Amino acid sequence: MLSVALTFASIALNIGHTRLRQYMFACPPVLRFFIFYSINVSQGMRGFATANKIILLCMQKIDHIGIAVKNLEESNLRFAKLLNTVHYKTEEVPSEGVMTSFFEVGDVKIELLQATNESSPIHKFIESKGEGIHHIAFAVEDVNAELQRLKEAGFDAIHDTPKQGADNKVIAFLHPKSTQGVLTEICAEQS
Ligand code: ZN
Repeated sequence: MLSVALTFASIALNIGHTRLRQYMFACPPVLRFFIFYSINVSQGMRGFATANKIILLCMQKIDHIGIAVKNLEESNLRFAKLLNTVHYKTEEVPSEGVMTSFFEVGDVKIELLQATNESSPIHKFIESKGEGIHHIAFAVEDVNAELQRLKEAGFDAIHDTPKQGADNKVIAFLHPKSTQGVLTEICAEQS
């Protein structure tokens, strides 16, 4: 009954499903379940298949894998040979002190990152660990809502608020100490 009431309430208040999901993250677990269920009911009684789809909206897929490199030009040639395709864009992100290039492998991207100054996180990473996988990025529907959910679940956020990243993305990072040593990015297309 509560779920049906919430559905009608959301329609009456003209709250969209995305906004309803944001409220859902701030609720106690029991209420969260009913809001979650109410979204499914209001989307047409598609049951657990729909429920699974809703869950996937939180972490939709691996968007890209970030790889720290010393020399972007040389690495572009190396990865072009490895993947048998050329990079489709290069882009500087001054706020992060990086120059990036992107390759497509199916629907996952490879992001090569070269430091543009010595205070860049990529410079520090290569100084301590050498070249290699720097981070994994997951596509999410809403970076703000997902960041809130992850912080409430006990993960340490490097960024308290999302920021502009490369490739027309809004991004936020989780500290690797809370993710088994894997620097984790969440990202969404900038609207
Ligand atoms: Zn990235």
